[in-house]
Amino acid sequence: MKERPPQTARIALNRPLRRLFDYLIPENLQLEPGQRVNIPFGRQSATGLVVETGVRPPNGITLKPVHSVYESWPALPNETFQLLSWASDYYQHPLGECLFTALPPALRRGRPASEKQDTWWKAAAGPEALAGNAHRLKALLAWLQRHPHGASTSSLTAAGFTREHIRTLQKRELIEETEAVSTKGEPGTTDTISDHPGPVLSPAQQQAANQIASPRDGFSVSLLYGITGSGKTELYLHYLKQQLSASAQALVLVPEINLTPQTVARFQRYFGQRIVVWHSALNDGERLSTWLKIRNGEPVILIGTRSAVLLPFTSLQTIIVDEEHDSSYKQGEGFRYSGRDMAVYRAHLNNCPVILGSATPSLESYQNALNGKYQLIRLEERAGNAKPPSISLLDIRSRPLEGGLSRPTIQAIEQCLNDGQQALVFVNRRGFAPVMMCFDCGHMVECPRCDTRLTYHRRDRAMRCHHCDYQTAATEHCPKCQSDAFKPVGQGTERTEDILASTFPDTPVVRVDRDSTQRKGSIQGILKKVNSGEPCILVGTQMLAKGHDFPNVTLVVVVNADGGLFSVDFRAPEQLIQTLLQVSGRAGRGEKSGQVLVQTCHSDHPILKSLRQGHYLTLADQLLTEREAGGFPPFRAMAIFRAEADTMAKSLELLDRIKPQASVPGIETWGPLPAMIARRADRHRAQLVLCCDNRKRLNHVLSHLCQNLDQQKLPSGVKWMIDVDPQET
Ligand code: ADP
Ligand code: ZN
Ligand code: ZN
Repeated sequence: MKERPPQTARIALNRPLRRLFDYLIPENLQLEPGQRVNIPFGRQSATGLVVETGVRPPNGITLKPVHSVYESWPALPNETFQLLSWASDYYQHPLGECLFTALPPALRRGRPASEKQDTWWKAAAGPEALAGNAHRLKALLAWLQRHPHGASTSSLTAAGFTREHIRTLQKRELIEETEAVSTKGEPGTTDTISDHPGPVLSPAQQQAANQIASPRDGFSVSLLYGITGSGKTELYLHYLKQQLSASAQALVLVPEINLTPQTVARFQRYFGQRIVVWHSALNDGERLSTWLKIRNGEPVILIGTRSAVLLPFTSLQTIIVDEEHDSSYKQGEGFRYSGRDMAVYRAHLNNCPVILGSATPSLESYQNALNGKYQLIRLEERAGNAKPPSISLLDIRSRPLEGGLSRPTIQAIEQCLNDGQQALVFVNRRGFAPVMMCFDCGHMVECPRCDTRLTYHRRDRAMRCHHCDYQTAATEHCPKCQSDAFKPVGQGTERTEDILASTFPDTPVVRVDRDSTQRKGSIQGILKKVNSGEPCILVGTQMLAKGHDFPNVTLVVVVNADGGLFSVDFRAPEQLIQTLLQVSGRAGRGEKSGQVLVQTCHSDHPILKSLRQGHYLTLADQLLTEREAGGFPPFRAMAIFRAEADTMAKSLELLDRIKPQASVPGIETWGPLPAMIARRADRHRAQLVLCCDNRKRLNHVLSHLCQNLDQQKLPSGVKWMIDVDPQET
């Protein structure tokens, strides 16, 4: 009998290595790409993912056999596997790390792909014998007595009981294990579908909805340009209700789920338990559970942040990317992918529609619509009776300011409150003031580890760096000359909050920034207060610009619009306009019309002048003209080689070494130059920008460079990385 020729597999590991490893497949195993295996690696064993089988290893190498396989099915189904392979090549990130990003942490660590069985409990029959003041124990027992079918450990812990409570009652034989009933009937997880989930679509919304391709037509990209408050969310809901098959999955990407609990609630009203969420606050158990649902093809509608696009969907029929312009879709470190762009590629692989929605589309997507790659759908009316807000510029060059606010601004807020409405004040910096300065010697307090100044946080009496984790206690005197003319300069949210609280002592002032929303659930509390409709003033950062629906806000104040006007970053004007229009879009979403006051020292700046018209696409056309003239994306592909080291000389030297290899016909290089913040957490950072008319060619050159660099021995302490389609330059 002829012996079976040895079968081999090429395997990826979760390591930053641009290479794969070959192993023998034992006779009793069948393997396919995407499967999880356990392999011997060095003196240990490791979890790997099969990339390819039937490979021919180089001659003269003896291969070790695979230890075992975790599942008989691929953890990464075909499209997910292809998506990540494509991304590895496109973003120049090692395949192994890309593939492993799509696994929940438990599976990366080699744990079994099944959920820990949740134990169910019910109250034991017989007399209740809980003496003394065991308060929580009594409450737990009473809870179970009220639920004759019992409850699971996880639902009990979610309700605030501890595992210790459960064990104690079990030991005293007051409760006992019982059979699980389906989660549908579990206490606390009632179905939230309502009979009248929302309004019928307006004619304008209906017309837009009719233009969006159906899943039956296969792959398509629709760019839904819908002004703020036009009812994009409503439109997504109707679209899914009408178009999504009962057995299919849908993915809804959102920038930051924790900030917009309202959105999830709206989806739940339409789809009840079909809604599942995915975001960074989930614990490992929740991640595994959701991942398994998706992998098992359960017909869920998943609302998630960036990394949700990597989940192993098996019957994906629609993708929606809400606020597609949002920069949080781009991963800023490690595997630097764009969740939005991967969503488009994923739709292509799954042959399904993708809807990119925004009131301020990215110039990339808009350009794709102009050249016919995407279908542009316009929704330029506000929903219900709401009208777009009127925007006016308030030049503050020669006006006295109090805490950054001019007299007319204060008066406008007063008027708004007197009318029983709410006002929103946008400040682009958290903390009290961006810097502490000595008015005697001119000293400004800087971060000892970064090339930045420390932000003064008065609530905690601290000075903090917003670029590393450095902080120090705030002082009353100048640390350099001991003068007491040591004062905060500029505006932060805390300072504006203080000024408003003292100017309007009878009105609640609510601050919304990363500091005030750190505690779990705090944003819900804030939103509840705002949605009660009582007059109040909201003060906050970008966070306030993101997708919120505040029906009683009629006045929006932008404390200072000038930050992005003169930046060297080519994306700064786009981002400034997007932020200003998004934050303006919070005004007048209900019955009463809205007003926006933009304080500026440059009221004659062309960007701000055209902002007043409030028509985003006109501004976008202007910006695109500038981008084209400058040879910037989206007209050329761009990538940045970043280097960091313990000295700037080392970083620059590495990039100097790379530059000649990158300087081939068709590629333009800029730099190497120190990064905008040259030193950050004591690392000295430099960058080399590469631009090219042809994306394929740039990709080719980058791959080549990576391979070369991998084979070179670099000076110790130097690190390099590639950022394709960078958001920050
Ligand atoms: P967007 O996502 O475009 O900012 P939303 O979907 O949040 O807009 O809608 C803005 C507001 O208008 C919400 O309060 C929503 O309930 C309301 N709305 C949306 N569509 C309609 C409609 N057809 N009729 C009445 N109100 C609507
Ligand atoms: Zn001083
Ligand atoms: Zn710092």
